[in-house]
Amino acid sequence: MNTPIRGRFAPSPSGRMHLGNLFAALLAWLDVRSLGGEMVLRMEDLDPDRCKPAYLPQLAEDLRWLGLDWDEGWQPGDTVYTQSHRTAVYQAAFDRLAEAGLVYPCFCTRRELLAASAPHAADGARVYDGRCRRLSPAERAARLATGRKPAWRVAVPAETVSFVDGNYGPQAQRLDTDCGDFILRRSDGVYAYQLAVAADDGAMGITRVVRGWDLLSSTPRQIWLLEQLGYPAPAYCHVPLLLAPDGRRLAKRDRDLDVGCLRANSTPEKVTGLLAYLAGLQPRPAPVRPRELVRDFSWAQVGARDRVVDERAWAAL
Ligand code: GLU
Repeated sequence: MNTPIRGRFAPSPSGRMHLGNLFAALLAWLDVRSLGGEMVLRMEDLDPDRCKPAYLPQLAEDLRWLGLDWDEGWQPGDTVYTQSHRTAVYQAAFDRLAEAGLVYPCFCTRRELLAASAPHAADGARVYDGRCRRLSPAERAARLATGRKPAWRVAVPAETVSFVDGNYGPQAQRLDTDCGDFILRRSDGVYAYQLAVAADDGAMGITRVVRGWDLLSSTPRQIWLLEQLGYPAPAYCHVPLLLAPDGRRLAKRDRDLDVGCLRANSTPEKVTGLLAYLAGLQPRPAPVRPRELVRDFSWAQVGARDRVVDERAWAAL
């Protein structure tokens, strides 16, 4: 039997989406629909400090407004496609890694972490030097006995993970030197994004991951975690970012770009037209519906260059 093609929308409900989120969502939808696959909507609301329940229905409604649909996923009252309700899944994944001897507690404070990690050139993240990995069993027991809650890290091997991104081409990362032992569960008990995404993509049978290239450097970690959890890795296509004219990345704080303002001032066809133009899928920002773009969609048209949303682009709305 052939594996079904399955992609996902995986928004974080930390605010209203903006034009850049819609850009990635449109490309994720076109990627899967052009292959005749299924779409899943999963709400990534793990971080209780950033995510608000009120944003969940709004997100689903905003995707629908643009003309994007999905075959299964979040709906009001859902607990299956909502990360904050999937703690048992992450606990099981965590336990599996722990049983394989790959998990250790990390007692480093924020200040110690700065001292214990080297800045990582690729994405500005820091590579942890693994000092808590080297604690003796007695030292570990003594620290646990103080009652201070540790974070939990996974011990990565000295291995290179390689993959071919469908839009950015061949990628490789040495796990120990480019990334280091990373956090699976924070000291407050919240499971980390990397673990949750790998466990969910695996459990939900996702075969196509399309998202902003800011997550390109997380991909080797996720591929490696999927492998440890016994799942095949999906295909990954990262998408360019939308930038403001001053070169900044569009962000949720740019109020004038959020979907609420777009909905108040424009139409789904005009917004899709602009996104399709920015993506290289049509020569002008002419109004269009997502489903009209499915037939001719190809990644060769999209390419890797980030896009500036300038005055001319706005004029299309
Ligand atoms: N939830 C993440 C975000 O909204 C995306 C995660 C992913 O696609 O892997 O940025």
